[in-house]
Amino acid sequence: MSSIEVVLASANPGKLREFEELLAPLGVTLSSQADYGVHDVEETGLTFVENALIKARAAARASGKAALADDSGLAVDALNGAPGIYSARYAGQPSDDQANNRKLLDALSEVPEGLRGARYWCALVYLRHAEDPAPLIVQREWRGDILSLPRGEGGFGYDPLFWLRDREMSVAELPASEKNRLSHRGRAVAALVEELKAL
Ligand code: IMP
Repeated sequence: MSSIEVVLASANPGKLREFEELLAPLGVTLSSQADYGVHDVEETGLTFVENALIKARAAARASGKAALADDSGLAVDALNGAPGIYSARYAGQPSDDQANNRKLLDALSEVPEGLRGARYWCALVYLRHAEDPAPLIVQREWRGDILSLPRGEGGFGYDPLFWLRDREMSVAELPASEKNRLSHRGRAVAALVEELKAL
């Protein structure tokens, strides 16, 4: 792929920097949807991938450029996949990680060890233009178990409650570089980069 401008469907400067670094070797110049006057669009889908598509389409439409969007969250087996697409605002708005974690612990208070499996999920969508009928879609999961008490100081969101059996630590105890390599988001981005290279 020769130099191409892509709009990231997110207003989060941290995400923009992260994606910029990952995509720079492909000759992709990333801009923010805010540069085109797009702010948060209503995420009316019922799945991560639908919401990523909605966000990417809005950014592509407003900018006239290719667009990239991500949507991620936590899906707990014993809760039929909740909090799912509502992960950021599980305990209400504005989004509050600690309140979300408390609500999750309450919801699982009767669920014994061994039945507390969960997955982080990340959907990434790349649209060449707003009407692109064949979007590039990559989805990755990261499996773990929900602890009964938080552990660790790193990460964000549900990381202090997300236990990795093979590492015997929570994601909040995992070094950031390891998290980026192993996580749903890290692996989805790596897979997307490979797909973009092939375009
Ligand atoms: P978004 O994709 O930025 O909208 O994130 C959705 C929400 O899912 C976040 O606010 C977190 O609550 C949760 N989430 C997604 N990825 C992670 C993660 O890597 N660690 C902890 N929580 C996450």
